[in-house]
Amino acid sequence: MQKIANYINGALVPPNKSNYLDNYEPATGQVYAQIPDSSTEDVEHAYVAAKAAFPAWSTLSTDERSKILYRIASLIEENLESLAAAESKDNGKPEWLAKMVDIPRAASNFRFYSTAIQHYAAGAHAMSNKAINYTLRGAIGVVGCISPWNLPLYLFTWKIAPALAAGNCVVAKPSEVTPMTAFLLSQICIEAGLPAGVLNIVHGLGHSAGNAIVSHPNIKAISFTGGTQTGAQIAKIAAPMFKKLSLELGGKNPNIIFADCDYDKMLSTTLRSSFANQGQICLCGSRIFVERPLYERFKKDFVQRVAAMKVGDPLDKNSKLGAVVSKAHQEKVLSYVSLAKEEGGHVLCGGYAVHPEGRCKEGYFIAPTVIEGLEYDCRTNQEEIFGPVVTIMPFDTEQEVLEYANSVVYGLASTLWTSNISRATRMAQEIEAGIVWVNCWLLRDLRTPFGGVKASGVGREGGFHALDFFTEPKNVCIEY
Ligand code: NAD
Repeated sequence: MQKIANYINGALVPPNKSNYLDNYEPATGQVYAQIPDSSTEDVEHAYVAAKAAFPAWSTLSTDERSKILYRIASLIEENLESLAAAESKDNGKPEWLAKMVDIPRAASNFRFYSTAIQHYAAGAHAMSNKAINYTLRGAIGVVGCISPWNLPLYLFTWKIAPALAAGNCVVAKPSEVTPMTAFLLSQICIEAGLPAGVLNIVHGLGHSAGNAIVSHPNIKAISFTGGTQTGAQIAKIAAPMFKKLSLELGGKNPNIIFADCDYDKMLSTTLRSSFANQGQICLCGSRIFVERPLYERFKKDFVQRVAAMKVGDPLDKNSKLGAVVSKAHQEKVLSYVSLAKEEGGHVLCGGYAVHPEGRCKEGYFIAPTVIEGLEYDCRTNQEEIFGPVVTIMPFDTEQEVLEYANSVVYGLASTLWTSNISRATRMAQEIEAGIVWVNCWLLRDLRTPFGGVKASGVGREGGFHALDFFTEPKNVCIEY
């Protein structure tokens, strides 16, 4: 069985204590690899390597750093097929999706930041006839990056690329549930000539390896994407140590549909925004509010289309949904369907585990599920499910739907469907979310601020925002 390794000081190394964790293939329910169960000592080795690499990496010319990151992007592209296959096997997502979205985006993350750093500048403030202030922006030092399982390489590289571009050295931990493409990235970094110690990838559990990164006294900044509860735990440790923190957390996003929308576009996009990646994207719209005159038509068409979506082997090109990421997650998602029923909801389609014929019969599949008849403030509509489950609810007025939309503790993303530009503009201002998509979903420009408000996080990634996070500004004031 394949055993993957940590990537420390430029080499692939086993964990210090030789402890390993089983890694499952969600589509078959079988263990197919073993991953390091790293300890505090492994994180310390990674830190020491990163610290030693920092002076040379942070003073390397921007051009040189940029060239190496660009090479990593190209190598990711060259390895598209094998990375997509690995991502699909590790995570359960359809292979076509990994090939179309996850891996190309991982390459874009590196390419984007390899060029962004060449355009990044700090400001100057002249005080008339008196003094000039100018701002220096320098790398922080050794920083920590911790990522989740839903978009494994996509989100891992979204943190690492700007951290490295800005001149930091990194100790990173991918999710223990989906470590494989991060391991393959370590091989790519070696091939690209990334100097030893600049990036260190430590595999293992959150409460051990992850916690060791967060509580390390000399790792000065933590960029974390994951659940809101984990984010709160991390903040508790990092805040008294005065670390810089970027937290991208959970969501419970509203999808608000007005009767005057472009119906066909709305319907096909809402299928994606509900069930792409088995509904395991933090940006999926899981609460669908439909203006009453359109409600019955939408319900009929939507349920018909959802019921026809094929759930099955991620290797099958016709599978619209693959497996959810783990047995535990499958059970959690299905427990929310039971809760919805207890709360008075009617399951219009789905709501059960699927057991495809053949090699995937033991896999963790769930039929895409649509539920109606729930109040906006019940638990099913307030808590993050993070699976292929959506609720649909009618509404009458703009004011009413805003109240529903904003009633959750989260505030990550939202979607609005209307052809009334005044209404869209008005509502975009009122919705409590870091991102508002109008007549589209998941249309991403990497320059834009990305992140959430309320319990969905603190700080913004994307564009120069990430470079701001991964650098420390210093103002110099010269009187003349
Ligand atoms: P999680 O919080 O369980 O784990 C995320 C990462 O944190 C993993 O690498 C894990 O090992 C690590 N971790 C866990 N406990 C830790 C601790 N005490 N100290 C340090 N590290 C620790 O999240 P998950 O289940 O992997 O991911 C799903 C969650 O991520 C969902 O809530 C989803 O909404 C959220 N998410 C948010 C965004 C966003 O951009 N806002 C994007 C994707 C996913």
